[in-house]
Amino acid sequence: MKVNGQLNIAKTKEEPVSVPQLLEDYRVVVFSDEDLAALKKALEETFFSGAYALLYFVGKGCGERSYRRLSQLYSDRQALVDACISLKERERWGSFRCEIVEDGTGTIRVENCFEARGYGNSKEPACYFLKGYLEGFLGSVFQRQLKVTETSCFAKGDRECIFESRPEQRVATVERFNTK
Ligand SMILES: [Zn+2]
Repeated sequence: MKVNGQLNIAKTKEEPVSVPQLLEDYRVVVFSDEDLAALKKALEETFFSGAYALLYFVGKGCGERSYRRLSQLYSDRQALVDACISLKERERWGSFRCEIVEDGTGTIRVENCFEARGYGNSKEPACYFLKGYLEGFLGSVFQRQLKVTETSCFAKGDRECIFESRPEQRVATVERFNTK
């Protein structure tokens, strides 16, 4: 299944059609890239590596919540993923390219990722919230435990953020094999 962000989302009570409308209705706040980076760094200074787990679990919950909202409007997998991408691109999360096969294995590429672009230099991939979000959303869409790993990140100098998704069972099998 190849997925792109071309689908238009119908305006409903659940999904207002535009970010300007959300702003007009006082239903969103604007957080600059710098503010978000400052928030992440403050969490890291307080909780150290625990901050990464915190961001991941918050992201995962948000991804599951997005699925619950969008699944009221769309039933098939491609439409759900397309709708999510379309929404998040309009919210300026980045530009998404997503190729996922039927078991949930695939690659999600994000150019200009919101979580990386204000963060600055990092030795490791830095997008813990988005990793959790993708795992929560895609795991719900594919109705199975998925493991999402960020393999490239704009924050560490790569051209774009790249996330690899694999079914959890397959990850466990590979890890067992590697320990022999
Ligand atoms: Zn990243």
